[in-house]
Amino acid sequence: MRSIAERAAGPEVLERLKRALRVDWREYTALVAEKRGEGAFSVLVGVILSQNTNDKNSIRAFMNLKRKVGVKLSDIVEASFESIAEAIKPAGLWKQKAETIKAAAEAVNALGGEKFLLEEDPIRLREKLLSVKGVGAKTVDVFLSVVRKAPFFAVDTHAMRIALRWGLSDKKNYDKVSRALLEYFGSEKAEEAHRLIISLGRKYCTARSPRCPECPLTDICPSSSRR
Ligand code: SF4
Repeated sequence: MRSIAERAAGPEVLERLKRALRVDWREYTALVAEKRGEGAFSVLVGVILSQNTNDKNSIRAFMNLKRKVGVKLSDIVEASFESIAEAIKPAGLWKQKAETIKAAAEAVNALGGEKFLLEEDPIRLREKLLSVKGVGAKTVDVFLSVVRKAPFFAVDTHAMRIALRWGLSDKKNYDKVSRALLEYFGSEKAEEAHRLIISLGRKYCTARSPRCPECPLTDICPSSSRR
């Protein structure tokens, strides 16, 4: 299959998506700032809570946790598993997520705490975080691109589907798709492109019956039904 890269460069696609999708970043930006104000670890907590649920539920769970237990690294290290689990119920899969949050806090604490998250070499940090049970590549890559502006592109279900439809990769392989998206959009734009692709996937490029005729990329996408 031909690739979208043969018809348009990454920055042009980003501009088109920004104009067409008109994503309101204020809530997202405010939330990231709120989490960062509590420390880098709390951003990781937010990303873990956002797995397999929508923004509304993950934000509710985060705020509950902040109110009842606290979201700083030291709060989570000291908290019981039960108190974390109880507070994050709105996020779904709460038992599993509480285990992951607790395990991540203990691992990060043992490795040097906030300083480790903020200063460790991103590749080594990625390896260490991936060794925590329940923390996957997507979670770590969101964290690294948001907190460290490190060159990793987080691939969720929307990004995977869309990268394949764009012909940026011929395999449904996390690392291959992540590298292809990073190369196409550039590391500076990875976080923004990630959010825009999620929005494109929700509004136009849905898993079933994509709305190609109305899609802002219909004239350049190799999988468009209009081509
Ligand atoms: S043209 Fe169709 S397949 Fe291509 S990105 Fe848009 S909705 Fe998806």
